[in-house]
Amino acid sequence: MRKIAILGSTGSIGTQALDVIRHHRDLFEARVLTAGSNVELLARQAREFLPDAVVIADEGKHEALKEMLADLPIKVYAGSDAIAQVVCLDSIDMVLTAMVGFAGLRPTVAAIQAHKTIALANKETLVVAGSLIQELCHLHKVAILPVDSEHSAIFQCLNGQDVNRVKRILLTASGGPFRNFSKEQLANVTAAEALKHPKWTMGAKITIDSATMMNKGFEMIEARHLYNVAPKDIQIVIHPESIVHSAVEFADGAVIAQLGVPDMRLPIQYALGFPHRLPLPQAETLDLFQIGALHFEAPDPERFPCIRFAYDSIERGGNIPCVLNAAAEVTNEAFRKGLCTYPQMHTAIEQVLQQADFIANPQLDDLFQTDDWARRRTTEVLQTNATPQS
Ligand code: NDP
Repeated sequence: MRKIAILGSTGSIGTQALDVIRHHRDLFEARVLTAGSNVELLARQAREFLPDAVVIADEGKHEALKEMLADLPIKVYAGSDAIAQVVCLDSIDMVLTAMVGFAGLRPTVAAIQAHKTIALANKETLVVAGSLIQELCHLHKVAILPVDSEHSAIFQCLNGQDVNRVKRILLTASGGPFRNFSKEQLANVTAAEALKHPKWTMGAKITIDSATMMNKGFEMIEARHLYNVAPKDIQIVIHPESIVHSAVEFADGAVIAQLGVPDMRLPIQYALGFPHRLPLPQAETLDLFQIGALHFEAPDPERFPCIRFAYDSIERGGNIPCVLNAAAEVTNEAFRKGLCTYPQMHTAIEQVLQQADFIANPQLDDLFQTDDWARRRTTEVLQTNATPQS
């Protein structure tokens, strides 16, 4: 029986993870559930899964959640400190990090220090602090099992292989909703259009990151840290059908890929159940005759400069990917709120990256300070660059 804490249980990954657990009650138990502010859904989930504890990050919702669960023997906590504390409970052995953004860093570090296996969806943690996280995992002998579909695909391709013989990673990308848009068209796209992803249904932040291809840049950094492959050996490949979830090329030229219909429950379940491959209930069967053809294209960093920002940031190293992450989070939210245009996101990120002070070997405190500075600076830059409204 695997006893799991789900951080971000009310989100896209979190709800799908609970669906996996619902179908494998003999193998998995959700012992801790956490959410940002959605108390209603968190309370419903708690009633169904009866965890030991729940945490709501928004402290203003603590009383409401306590009232909703008053008749149940579930501990109810609130605040981000509590999230970093519950991951250390003796009653859990695995933490699924499915909360969004930089907020995932602290509880992930706490979980590693408490020797919990990490099922990692929160890619921002590795973007911001990849080297530090790997050092901590090494020190505490903790495994990270990837949940991101591409990284799960790579993990599955590497299973049983000689990792020293990896030549290249082929990281596939759907290309998002604006794959064929010209630069001129991109200047006028709206958040509502960006939120319509052609292949995946995901949370709002990652969907916007997919429309700018920032998500793929982050995934390149994530792959770099998970598999210790140099960025120049990670090739982003646009694959609009989203059937090949990524591939690994070995020293002898063999390329091993993982294919399947796009369904996040598969990589989630693979991480939760590793090393076992379990049946996935109600899974669609891949029908290659119906698909007919698979297509592959090179990405265009001219139209999608976030790809370039990611390669440049990881090349510069130190705290720069942390700056990139913070600038991307702030611009992402501003675009969703209609406070900046699609190209203004890129201009702001680039300016903030240029202005950042470099720290070669950042420790956790340095990363918190860098994040704080980059968020403030990005907000200022967006305000300065905002087109005056007539
Ligand atoms: P969602 O926005 O759907 O869900 C985010 C979850 O995090 C919710 O439970 C939310 O709570 C919670 N949350 C938000 N802010 C905070 C906070 N400050 N403190 C604590 N909890 C918070 O996101 P996704 O599920 O799409 O993505 C989650 C992570 O997984 C991201 O890092 C993303 O990049 C990654 N990922 C997602 C994929 C997908 O298919 N969705 C694929 C691969 C990776 P509430 O509901 O109350 O707001």
